[in-house]
Amino acid sequence: MVYDQIEVANTIINKMNSSGYSVTNTRRRIIAEILRNQKIFTSEELTKALPNLGRATIYRTLKILNEIGCICKLNISEENNFYTISLSDHHHHTICKKCNEIKEINLISVEKSIRQLDKKIDGDIISHNLDIFIICTKCS
Ligand SMILES: [Zn+2]
Ligand SMILES: [Zn+2]
Ligand SMILES: [Zn+2]
Repeated sequence: MVYDQIEVANTIINKMNSSGYSVTNTRRRIIAEILRNQKIFTSEELTKALPNLGRATIYRTLKILNEIGCICKLNISEENNFYTISLSDHHHHTICKKCNEIKEINLISVEKSIRQLDKKIDGDIISHNLDIFIICTKCS
């Protein structure tokens, strides 16, 4: 996904502030590093790119960013947790199996089906997860 780094950084910082989290210089550096690559990333990659910061600090910042909806956790690997920046409210992803390019996608009819499903399920649906794997036009 291509986006304006400064604009997205400001959005994230505002969201952290309004959610009651302090935006320290360390957190700003982590956010800047995430936005620099414009690619999916793991906490290990961030730890390598920011050797002066502790692993626990990076973990905690990722946890906060995920909690407030600024990054999405992707279910694409058994070994590593991959993340991507989140540019909109509730959405799903298309993920290219070859180049890992991610796009956000709205699945309006799926959301509707899930709401209807709620009546047939014995319990309350609290969340759902659906990513669509593709070979993108650049790779095929
Ligand atoms: Zn997302
Ligand atoms: Zn591709
Ligand atoms: Zn959905």
